[in-house]
Parts: sequence; structure tokens; C-alpha cells
Amino acid sequence: MQKAFKVTLIPTHNQEVLINKTIGCARFVYNRFLTLRKELYNTEQKTLNYNGCSQQLTLLKKEIEWLKEVDKFALQNSLKNLETAYKNFFSDLKKAKGKKGVGFPRLKKKHGCKQSYKTNLTNGNIQVIENRLKLPKLGWVKFHKSQDITGKLINVTVTCTSSGKYIASILCETEIEKYPQVTQNIGLDLGIKAYLVTSDGEVVDNPKYYRTQKRKLRSCHKKLSRSAKSSSNRVKAKNKLARTYERITNLRDDFLHKLSTRLIKENSIICIEDLRVANMVKNHKLAMSISDASWAKFVVMLEYKALWHDRIVQKIGTFYPSSQTCNHCGFINPLVKDLKLREWSCPTCSNYNLRDNNAALNILGEGLRLIAAVGIPEALNACGELVRPGAIQAEIVETGIA
Ligand SMILES: [Zn+2]
Repeated sequence: MQKAFKVTLIPTHNQEVLINKTIGCARFVYNRFLTLRKELYNTEQKTLNYNGCSQQLTLLKKEIEWLKEVDKFALQNSLKNLETAYKNFFSDLKKAKGKKGVGFPRLKKKHGCKQSYKTNLTNGNIQVIENRLKLPKLGWVKFHKSQDITGKLINVTVTCTSSGKYIASILCETEIEKYPQVTQNIGLDLGIKAYLVTSDGEVVDNPKYYRTQKRKLRSCHKKLSRSAKSSSNRVKAKNKLARTYERITNLRDDFLHKLSTRLIKENSIICIEDLRVANMVKNHKLAMSISDASWAKFVVMLEYKALWHDRIVQKIGTFYPSSQTCNHCGFINPLVKDLKLREWSCPTCSNYNLRDNNAALNILGEGLRLIAAVGIPEALNACGELVRPGAIQAEIVETGIA
């Protein structure tokens, strides 16, 4: 199994400069070849694939001296990323048939995008000893050690966060000690009022980190907008704002990790609704709550942890009326479409249903039915969307809260 360990680097000044330079070069290569591919296509209807780009890159390095100063794997990976962006665009185009997909690859900007580069292991160019990480060109970089990094190294992604922290995500092939087998199955109804309600009737409150930090965010935004352009106060205000956002993300990730780990530990089969989060976020009234709840991230965590520990995450179709169906007799009550109706008595069997718990029970029932009908391997992607190979991988990030 592959597992990524995230650590905060403590680079020296020179290392910091080189990391920034590498990120810059990686972005330069990405943009340069995206432009080249576009031009070639527009003028000669030719496509330039990864191998073609790779050959051109070798020539380019002879021309541009400073490209040689940085990690060569970072540049190669930029080309690979570009190739993936193209592939995703075309596969989405086929699938979506005119609907909005991932879109055509765009130029990377110096600000506002993820600032990172990836390097691969070859001949011991990457090593971890105690609290030091050896990276190509950079040499040994110290990091804050919060967990043991175990397994065979595969690659490292170095990211500069908007508050100026340097994070290394170290991907390893590692043996994961599986949780003991259990027989308990569970259905989850993801909501807004409560983060989720289980079929056992457990209610997990929504922490709403964004809302609770809203005041602080507002004051940060105010300070930033009032500070004079290119003043040192502006830099300070900018960093403070970025740190506040990072804090929200960290708090939320921590919550999501703990919750997903516990659910995986306690249950063998976990049934969830296949939420089209992207569609739901379009509903502005709910948008902030939904983004804040970050269900998509939560579901991804459940899925990869299920893989690690031999559990099953069964998604059920979006159009299954989980709230409206009475779990006792199967009657579909259209009145329950009203979101305000939190509890109801079934008109046919007079069973008293709590909205979310009833939905969770139905989700569990439907999930188990799908598994029985379609079988486990097929059921896994019977209703779920096609998972892009990189998608789960990219999100496999453990922050030491196993
Ligand atoms: Zn009923």
C-alpha cells in the first residue's frame, strides 16, 4: 500500500531559495510546453506528446542555463503533469459530452495556484534519516518530526504554502497494519445540520470551522485591505490571513481524519450517498456550509482507508429517495422533500421516523442490497464515478492521526 507522510520542512536560507527556484522552473516548463503544444496544434494540427516534450526539454536545457541548476526530476514531472492534464481533459470531454468537465489545461500562475514540485527516487537521491530528508540538489533538509516514516520511498512533493511554510509529502510503499476484522455495517447520511447521522442513530456534529473563524478572517481581510501597497505591514497581514486559512484547513482535516479512521475501524461495510458535491455547491444558500463540510474529502479518506484495512465503501445512487422512504415499510412520503420536516410518522405503518436516522438506515439497506445484487467488486463502481487513477493517490495524505 502507498502512504504519504506529510512533514514541515525547516530549510536553510539557501535551500529556501533553491526550493523557490525549482518551483519556478517547474512552472516555467509547464507553461512553456503548454504554449508550445497549443501553438503546434493551432498552426500545424500536430500534437506533441510526453516523449516529444521530453526531447524538446533536453534541447531547451542547453539553451537556458538556469534550468540546469534545479532538480531535473521536477522538470520531468511538470511534463508528466501536463500530459495528465491533457488526458483528463480529453477523457472528460468524451464522458461529459458537452457538459462542463475539468476544462482545458491552463497556464500556472505565480500566485493563487498550488506552488509545488515533485521529485522521484533514483539511486538513493532521496533518503530519510531521523529528522532529516535528503533531496536532489538540496541535500539534507531538516524537518519537524511528528511520526515515523516507514516503507520504501517512491517520491516527494515539496509545496510552499501561501503563508510561506515548506511542506514535504513523502510517498512510501509501506505495509499497513490492518485493523482487526469486524462484522458491523453502517449507513451514513451526510447533512448540514449535523455533519453526519449514522444508521445506529449516532449524530456527529458539524464543526463549521469556517463559520467560527469568520470573525478572525474578517479582521484579517480588513487589515490587509487597509495596509499600504508593498509595505511590510501588508506582507505581515497577508501571511496572517494565509495562516488563518491554513489553520481552518488543518482543524478540518484533523476532524475528518479522526472521524473517517474511527468509522473504518468500527465497521466492515460503510454505505454512503454518492453526492454530487459540485452540483450542490452551485446552490448558493447551502454553498458555504457544504464547502465547509468538505464531504468530498471525507469520502476520499473513507475510500482509501477502506482499501488499507479491507473494508468496503458502498456508494448508492444520487436519485435514491433515502429521506422520503420509510425504512420500516418502504412507503415513499413525498412530503419529506421539504427539508424543514425533521421527523415524521409514516402514514401507512405509523412508524415514527427521525429524518436523518431514517435516511441513514435506508442508505445502509440500499447499499447492502447493491452488494448482494451486483457483488462486491462490481458494486464498488456500480454507482460511483470513474475514479481517475491519480485522484485517490493525490489525496492519500496522512497527518499522523492514524
Ligand atoms: Zn412506514
